Amino acid sequence: MLGGAPSRRYGPQARRSARASSRGRASHNSPTFDRNTVSTPAALQGPTMKLLILDRDGVINEDSDAYIKSVAEWIPIPGSIEAIARLNQAGWTVAVATNQSGLARGYYDEATLEAMHTHLRQLVAEQGGELGLIVHCPHGPDEGCDCRKPLPGLLQQIAAHYRVELAGLWFVGDSPGDIAAARAVGCQPVLVLSGKGERTQATGLPQGVLVFDDLAAVAAHLLAVEADR
Ligand SMILES: [Mg+2]
Ligand SMILES: [Zn+2]
Repeated sequence: MLGGAPSRRYGPQARRSARASSRGRASHNSPTFDRNTVSTPAALQGPTMKLLILDRDGVINEDSDAYIKSVAEWIPIPGSIEAIARLNQAGWTVAVATNQSGLARGYYDEATLEAMHTHLRQLVAEQGGELGLIVHCPHGPDEGCDCRKPLPGLLQQIAAHYRVELAGLWFVGDSPGDIAAARAVGCQPVLVLSGKGERTQATGLPQGVLVFDDLAAVAAHLLAVEADR
């Protein structure tokens, strides 16, 4: 962790960290959460649906500054598919909110994007899971849409689909725009260090962002917290 960084990093000792965190630390200054929420998602604190929202590129699959333009370029990050399936098997719904400005830029078309997502769903199914809703922003940065992260439109689409409140839900991403979108609607921002995550962390994180190595570590943490309860 960088000196002075406000966020905390969870490693293999996630379960122990979670306990220490919920017991002793008042490290969160957002009025939306009590300190227990730092390590325990809202979904586990009440009758709320267990819904986890993920960014795609850099979280589920390897990202590229040259965009992911084909199914062949869509390469899962090790452990990510299994992580989604394990969460599903524990009753979690996993949804995806992804900026795909490569559509607006003409690098690939909607059919190709759909093929990538069919492939993703197939991989999750092979591990015994079932991926939930995938929403994407097809727009470029200058189109003035309301769905391109850092705006929260995609998260709101997911909330509307599942008829849930966003506040307290975890949104896992690797970019500053993911963190901003989460904060805009009261989601718990979670940064993974895969994809652009290390770059994002190096720019300095706002207070209250949770940091994990990758999606597998996020899933392990959630399942450990759940097993504790
Ligand atoms: Mg990303
Ligand atoms: Zn958009």
